[in-house]
Formats: sequence, C-alpha cells, structure tokens
Amino acid sequence: MEAAMRASLSMRLLEDIERFSRLFLVKEIGIQGIRKLREVKAAVVGCGATGTHIAELLVRVGVGRVTVIDKDFVDISNIYRTALFTEEDARQAVPKAVACARALKKIDSSVDVRPIVTKLTPANAEDLLKGHDIILDGTDNFTARLIINDFSVKYGVPWVLTGVGTWYGNVWLIDPARGGPCMRCLFTRVSDEGPNVCDVLGVVTTAVSLVASVAVSLALRHLLRIESNNEDLPRTYFVIDAKRISIDSFKVTRRADCPACGKRIFEYLNKAFKEEVAKPVCGTKAVEITPGKGQGISFEEVKKRVDEKRIVSVTEYTMKILVSEGVSITLFRDGRAIIDGTTDVDEAIRIYEEVTGIKLRE
Ligand SMILES: [Zn+2]
Repeated sequence: MEAAMRASLSMRLLEDIERFSRLFLVKEIGIQGIRKLREVKAAVVGCGATGTHIAELLVRVGVGRVTVIDKDFVDISNIYRTALFTEEDARQAVPKAVACARALKKIDSSVDVRPIVTKLTPANAEDLLKGHDIILDGTDNFTARLIINDFSVKYGVPWVLTGVGTWYGNVWLIDPARGGPCMRCLFTRVSDEGPNVCDVLGVVTTAVSLVASVAVSLALRHLLRIESNNEDLPRTYFVIDAKRISIDSFKVTRRADCPACGKRIFEYLNKAFKEEVAKPVCGTKAVEITPGKGQGISFEEVKKRVDEKRIVSVTEYTMKILVSEGVSITLFRDGRAIIDGTTDVDEAIRIYEEVTGIKLRE
C-alpha cells in the first residue's frame, strides 16, 4: 500500500515537473515553489467576473486545493465578463460554483476543487472559510468583504480584496497576522447598504482580468514569500486603470482604534448580527430570501405542498414554481429563494412561507 502511494506521489511530481516546466524556471518559484503551491488551500468567495478569472489563474499556476463559493447560477449575461463559463452552462442554469469547479477540473484534473453553492453569511462564514491558507475576494458587495475581513483578522488568515467597476479596479492584500492594516482601518464608515455596488454598474472585461492577475500575483508573492524591492505589500493598495493602462498605489496604515484589528470586535462575524431575511435584489423586480442557518429546503416536501401543475422546473439545485401571473419562486436546497415579479418584501415572505412551510418570522 505504502509503496503504491509512494509511486503515485512520485508520478504526480513527474507530471508536475512536465506541466510546470516553464513556471519552475522562474527563479523565485522553482520546483520547491510549485510543490508548496500544490499543498495550498485557497478559497475564492464569489464566482462571477473577478472570481472566475482568479480561480482559473490559481489553478493554472499550480494551487492544489481550491474552494469556490457562490450562490448564483450562470446566466448568458455573465459570459462576456467571466472566465471558464460557457453558453451551455447558461442554458442549463448551472450554479456558478459548480460550473467553475467543472471547468477547473478540465484544466487540471489533479486539483482538489470544492464547489459550495451558497451565500457567505455571518452564520456560515467560519465553517466555510476555516482551514484555508488564503482567501480571494470575487464578491460584488461590501457586506461579504466585511465578513471575510472579520474572519481574516480573527483567525490570522490573509485575504486579497478586489473590486471592479467600468474600466477601474482595486486590489489589496490584507494580512493582519503580519501586522498589516485591515479593511476597516481604511473603510472607517461602512454601513451595510451604503457602498454596496450592485450588478447594474457596467464593467469592462479587461479591467476584470487585470484585477484578477494582480490579485493572484499578490497571492503568489504572499504564499511563496517572494519579496520585491522591500515593498510592504500588506500596506499597499493598488488602483488599476484599464483605460489609461496604469497601476498606481497608495499606502494604508493600521489604526489602533479600528473596531476589527484594533479592538477585535467582529460585528460582521457575530452570529447575533442579524441579516435581513428578505431583500429586494437591486436592478431587478425580485426579492431574495435568506433564512437562518440550518434551514434547508426539501424539494420532496415542497412537491407535496404545491399543485404539481405549478412546478415549472426541478433540477439538482433548484425548483421553480409559478405562484401567480408573472410571479414565480425559485427555491434553492440551502434554504434560499428568489421571488421574481415583485419588490414587495412582505408579499415575498408570505409566498416563501406558503410554498415551503418554513416560518421566517413568528
Ligand atoms: Zn483594522
């Protein structure tokens, strides 16, 4: 048994030497660097435009274990700005995390990829993110980043913040465990809703891939401890302009009175921090329902509750039910739902409770 394991290990090493023959020639990386990357476990939160480009680059440079977390499904409008996704994924409405994982396995079948179809919340963040060496931000909202930041400070796990809008982007390696500032040292006033940029903001794909490239370069430098000109990476915030073609940077300093890294108050991880159960989805006529932890939906139970004729589709991941003229509900196994055709939160909650039998409020 042991001999067989040794043989398969050395087989993998031989394959890696061939696969990465041009990468290990880079003096800061070498065979040792590749072997190290093979052991790295990275989490990519958000598998949209930036997340897919980041995930692809991570796997192509040899990161051996990747977790991809996303709650959404591939849509035709995602294709132009993402990597990895295909028209077929959109036609079948495959969950982004699953489509991303499948594509990554096609690039390198030896990579351990774990797709997680859910939304990162204060309730699940610690379970989902623990055990990773680095977290890369592919999200599109401030709330998720604040949750990641709290996790990063609390457990000393570095993360790479990214953001893209139109031609511009930001990237910042946040590493509080090595004395660097955290997100809340810079963004001192963050309301839950205020700075959230929603999908309606345009984005140019070249800005996305530039941002992803810088993010993965920073991750590589961190993971392999590659220094360059004594630059203080965790204090450097990069600003990318894909129109003018430039990358500028400024320094961020740690604040002693920072609620997260200074006072170690993790309000975004705190389980008592209540997320809104129902929220209108910006830019659409829909409401998203996110119940608390442990409230998964059994499609079998729902089938017993609703008129069979109203069931529009059932897939491995979703169940869509017509509620009334122009109003439908799409259920996800993790308990979430999207009610399409209304922006009325109370109506959405009523529909959800009626269809699933799950009480969202007493
Ligand atoms: Zn801080």
